[in-house]
Amino acid sequence: MKEISTIKTTDPKEAARLLIRGGVVAFPTETVYGLGAAIFDEAAIQRVFEAKGRPGDNPLIAHIGDVGQIDLLASELSTSADRLIEAFFPGPLTIVVKKTEAVPAIATAGLATIGIRMPNSELALAFLRACGTPIVAPSANISGRPSPTTWQAVRDDLDGRIDCILQGEPTEIGLESTVVDCSVEPPVLLRRGAISIETLQSVVPEIREAELGDEGPARSPGLKHKHYSPRATVAIGTSLPLGFAGRAAFIGTSMPRDVFAESRIAASVEEYAANLFEFFRECDRRGIDLIVCEAVPETGIGAALMDRIRRAAE
Ligand code: AMP
Ligand code: MG
Repeated sequence: MKEISTIKTTDPKEAARLLIRGGVVAFPTETVYGLGAAIFDEAAIQRVFEAKGRPGDNPLIAHIGDVGQIDLLASELSTSADRLIEAFFPGPLTIVVKKTEAVPAIATAGLATIGIRMPNSELALAFLRACGTPIVAPSANISGRPSPTTWQAVRDDLDGRIDCILQGEPTEIGLESTVVDCSVEPPVLLRRGAISIETLQSVVPEIREAELGDEGPARSPGLKHKHYSPRATVAIGTSLPLGFAGRAAFIGTSMPRDVFAESRIAASVEEYAANLFEFFRECDRRGIDLIVCEAVPETGIGAALMDRIRRAAE
């Protein structure tokens, strides 16, 4: 891939100008940093896949700055979809719905459905509103690596491969959005995120968790790909494996039982979640061989956190 010069800016309007001209632009949201291209610009979308090394069968999520843009993307909305939009947009929730003809096949990896989300961060909304078009945006990392929660992590992965990085603060949540498939009845939770199943069910009681078999290609292609992985091996627990001789690190909310070369003790499960991906990257920079992650109760964001840790440990 030919190197290009990646502009770094804190100005959402400058970033939007680059995107409108066919550019691919990384921008912060409350979940993780995304890598955006205009949704009706197939050449720009192709560059998103190339920059990330993303498999072509992994669909992208459309990001909107205004709920009025949903009509451009969704051919029909179920009552459940309407309720979820009303309750959680803007926020860390992606709804999957039947797409309009106008949405190009490359954006959805050939699926008849599209994921839609309206992020809840001031800078993301300023950028999306300045773009004036929905944009598709997967996480702004090299495919398979931990999602980026800082603009520096985006730079480390994608400098020279994308047109611009909109520089914001480290992301607040640090894990990707909750994904709910509303193209079926009852709706199915495809990916856990900051909005928990309990919270979703307070608005749409029928929502159910995907069964294991549901995570196949037909349902949510992205879930079958390897994700969130640091170079180090990831294990779940609070102590070192017997006889382990390499460099090990620990992350959790309590003091570990053994001595680790690096450790991050978070004050809450939320802080643990917000720190996980950056800690993985930090461990890689420091040549850590093994990252031990403490297990947490699987309620609220704890369910999403354990999902990411398990996938990283696979
Ligand atoms: P990323 O933006 O990198 O977190 O990836 C987006 C993920 O959302 C994909 O890997 C899928 O798991 C899910 N997703 C996006 N669009 C769809 C869709 N149309 N149907 C099912 N799942 C989707
Ligand atoms: Mg991703």
